[in-house]
Amino acid sequence: MIKCIFCSDYAGSFIRTPYSYLPGVNDDDAGADLIVNLPSCTECREILDAVSIASLEGAARYLSLVYSEVYAHLLAEVKWSRGELEELGYNLRSSIEMSHKAHLEVTDRVEQCKRVAVLGPLLPDEVMDDIRYEVSSTLATEAAHIPTQRSPP
Ligand SMILES: [Zn+2]
Repeated sequence: MIKCIFCSDYAGSFIRTPYSYLPGVNDDDAGADLIVNLPSCTECREILDAVSIASLEGAARYLSLVYSEVYAHLLAEVKWSRGELEELGYNLRSSIEMSHKAHLEVTDRVEQCKRVAVLGPLLPDEVMDDIRYEVSSTLATEAAHIPTQRSPP
């Protein structure tokens, strides 16, 4: 499963950023300004589509703030003991267990975003390889289309 580079949820989409935003790529590297696709979940993509981002760390920080607000109700700790839960009716108990599960998932996604905000994204080798390949083939195509200067006979 390819994970969202921000929240580690399933990456069903991608975000487009300059190649130079990637870890280990310098502003003066060949192809630094080419736009590349990074794996992202649909929710992170939709939130980032609405803003302009200057770095992947900044984007992750922004996402952690948005999610903390949007999911505040799920991030609040669920305080039911096992004994209390067992005394409840089935429907109420399942609904509390579901929100507990959602609480854990959301907490994890927000933590991942905060981690990326500080440490930068962790891109798996296969993702980095694909992006490097994409950049180098684009550069090669561009080079092939630049007319070569001919010296006069
Ligand atoms: Zn995400």
